[in-house]
This record gives sequence, C-alpha cells and structure tokens, in this order.
Amino acid sequence: MKAFDLVIRGGTIVTPAGTMHADIGIEGERISAIGTDLHGREEIDARGLYVFPGLIDVHVHLQMPAGDIVTTDDFFTGTAAAACGGTTTIIDFIEQLPDESLRAAADARRAEADGKVAVDYSLHLTGNSSAPAFLEEIAALVREGYTSLKLYTTYTDLMVDDKDILRLLETCKSHGLLPIVHAENDAIIAYEQARLLSAGMTAPRYHPHSRPCTAEAEAVQRVLALAAVVNTPVYFVHISCAESLEAVERARAAGQTAYVEVTPQHLLLDDQVYDQPGFEGAKYCCAPPLRPRRHLDALWQGLQWGKVQTVATDHCPWDFATQRQRGRDNFTLIPNGLPSIETRAMLLYHFGVNAGRISLPRFVELCATAPALLFGLAPRKGDIAVGADADLVLWDPGREIILSAGSLHQRVDYCPYEGWKVRGAPHTVLLRGRVIVRDGKFVGAPGMGRFVPRTPFRPPFRGGMTNERAH
Ligand SMILES: [Zn+2]
Repeated sequence: MKAFDLVIRGGTIVTPAGTMHADIGIEGERISAIGTDLHGREEIDARGLYVFPGLIDVHVHLQMPAGDIVTTDDFFTGTAAAACGGTTTIIDFIEQLPDESLRAAADARRAEADGKVAVDYSLHLTGNSSAPAFLEEIAALVREGYTSLKLYTTYTDLMVDDKDILRLLETCKSHGLLPIVHAENDAIIAYEQARLLSAGMTAPRYHPHSRPCTAEAEAVQRVLALAAVVNTPVYFVHISCAESLEAVERARAAGQTAYVEVTPQHLLLDDQVYDQPGFEGAKYCCAPPLRPRRHLDALWQGLQWGKVQTVATDHCPWDFATQRQRGRDNFTLIPNGLPSIETRAMLLYHFGVNAGRISLPRFVELCATAPALLFGLAPRKGDIAVGADADLVLWDPGREIILSAGSLHQRVDYCPYEGWKVRGAPHTVLLRGRVIVRDGKFVGAPGMGRFVPRTPFRPPFRGGMTNERAH
C-alpha cells in the first residue's frame, strides 16, 4: 500500500462545493490524494475537526510607513499572527513614493518581506501616476506575477484623478491586472475635516462625520462609471455602507462586473464605539469609518446574497499608547486602520457560521476560494484538490477563545474586540505540507513563507454566486 509523506486523517473537508469526510494525502508540498483509508509515514488525526483550504487575506499593511511612523507588525510578526488565525497567504502592497520607480519600490518591498514571512505572500501594485513610463513598468511587473493594481481616490500622496483612473483601468484591462479601489471622495473629506476642526470638534468622535457614506458612495459610483467606459471589471476594497452596495448592484444589473470586499470591523463594530470616554474612540479610527447599525445589516445581507465576494482585514496596526496619541488634539492626525490579521476567521466563523448567517462552504469561499480566483492564486491556493499546495487549516469548532491583545500574536497594544468570546478556532495549520501551527501554538519560523507569482486576471470571473440554499 502506498504511503504518503503525510496524511490528514478523518477530518471533514470543507470547500465551496460542500463538505465531505475524507483523508488527505500529501507528498512534498502538495495534495496528492483525497480519499478513504489513506496511509502516511506521518499522520495527523483530524477527527472532529473541519479541514479548510489555507485562508487568504488579500488586504494587509505590514511594516507600512506613513510619514515618520510604521505599522507595528513587521513581515514576521504579522504573518505569524496570520498563521495563528488560519491564514496561509497574504497580499500586502507596494507603495512607491511619488517620484520613485515602481521597479525599485517592488524590489525594495520584496527585500523587506523575503526571509521574514512565515506564510506565503504576494504584493499589489499601486497606481499613483498615468505617465507612459509608469504604465510600461506596470506591464513589465505583470510578467513577474504582480497582477493587481490599487487605486486611491483619496490620500494626497497616493490619490489619482479621473483622467489617471481611466488610463490605469485601461492598462489593467490590456495586461491582465485586477484594479482594486479605495473609494472615498477626497474633496468631501477635506471639506468636512476643515469644517469640524474650525468649529473646535477635534475629538475622535468626529472622525466618522468627516468621512460620510456620501463620500464613499460617490467615489464608488464614479469609479463604476469610469470602469464602464473602459469596459473592465473593478474590485472595491473595504466597502462600508449600504449606498455603495446599492451602486454596485445597479451597475451589475446594467451588465458590469464589479467585486466587493468587506472587513470584519465594518461587519461587527458600529459607530457607537467613537463615543467611548476619553480618547478611546481613537482605537477605532479607520477609513472608511465604522458606520451606524443599518449598514452592518446591509453588509451581512450582502454576504448572504452573493453581493460581496471576499472578507479581508485591511490589517493596519498602530499602537494606541504611542502612535495614535499624535491625534489627541486633532482626530485627522490619528493614523487610520484597525488590526485583525489574526482574528478575521474566528470572528467571521463565530458571528457568521455559528450565528446561522452564512454556511460553512460560503465561509470558505469568502475567506479562501474567491480571493484565490480573483487574485490569480488558483488553482494552487484556495481549494482542497489534488495538485493544490497543501495549505490546510484544521479547525476546531468547539474551541473557545477570549480575544485579547495580551494573548493574540499580532504585535499591537490593543484589540478592537477585547474580551469578546468566540467559539471555533484553528487547531493545526499547514503551509505547503509543513505544520506551522500545532494545537493553537505557532511553530513556524521566519522565511518559511514564499513570494507567490500570480497569474493574470481573467474576466469575467463573477464570484460569490454560490447559491446559499444549495448547501
Ligand atoms: Zn488598506
């Protein structure tokens, strides 16, 4: 009888297609068999556990500079934390300076990550120019596996105007990149910030007022219009409000292809957190901001009905005791972003699957399979299939965890979900056949992860069209 290098025995395999009881045979770094009664030189008992494909977080900011500060998780601590949360592939960003070449910025970012990452990774390009030389650099980098391009409609050093967006969308279309968009109207934000500050409204509670839903929905609609002109799909990161989802649905009804990402923070935290006493509200400043409850309901409904394709974190950790304090007298100086690279799956499982809002297959689709298909990581990542990388999460549905900054691995001095109790967590995590989390403890090492060149984006992948009722 054939003996595999490693067999995951007796687990319940979950993919978007459904669930099944089977063993998984692994040879080297890949899955080589799925069946019953497989034998290995080594075996892991997965009875009573779910087996998911390694989860994928397509939106993280590790050791990201912003002015003179840098996000607190580096490529090792952030990816070790990701692993503890069941994530085995992340996609971070290359953010070149206004006059820096994309090639130089990409090489520098790779040098920062290689040798440190504990899980596999890739990088999104950022489109901050539409100069011909820059567009040529994009085309060259696609051939090395950088197949998505981030566009910002706000943030002075990064944002592009409609003219640039049209050219960049066209470049994405011709070379096989997925354009991913941070949509917020910059002029509305600047106007509201100035108005609030001049009226003495400087506390964190005014942050959400400075970035209203109107600012997001306007930018979503405008970018959809530009994408319609170019006739290319577009992916919106961190959608936070009902009006944006409605704009996307209207465009889809008119025949456009558009994808929506949501984050755990926008699903689970509402704008009342900004009213916490003292400066506590600064812990929750992110862009777009957390919204009134009705928007949370709309996002959950979007997950249920296939309007939303992915759940990613926008993990952007800034310490509360130091970095966030710079906005003590002016909320616009609080660095934006929330940490959740480690807690994403536990939160979505507990408040989605346990709460009966989404099915297990849909959970896997949102956290692994759809991200892999959209971002050119399939068929190596995002599925449990013969030939795929043996990135696997053995999930213990009964394990209870109280989320707390003190016990999480992500390196930041607070947790937005401090004291929340969740049921369901990773037990064992494998990266290309090697155990990197065992019994909930990180046992990997810096450099075990690898850069993953991605394949060009091939529209029209529609994603998220799984019929919930079929499960
Ligand atoms: Zn982000």
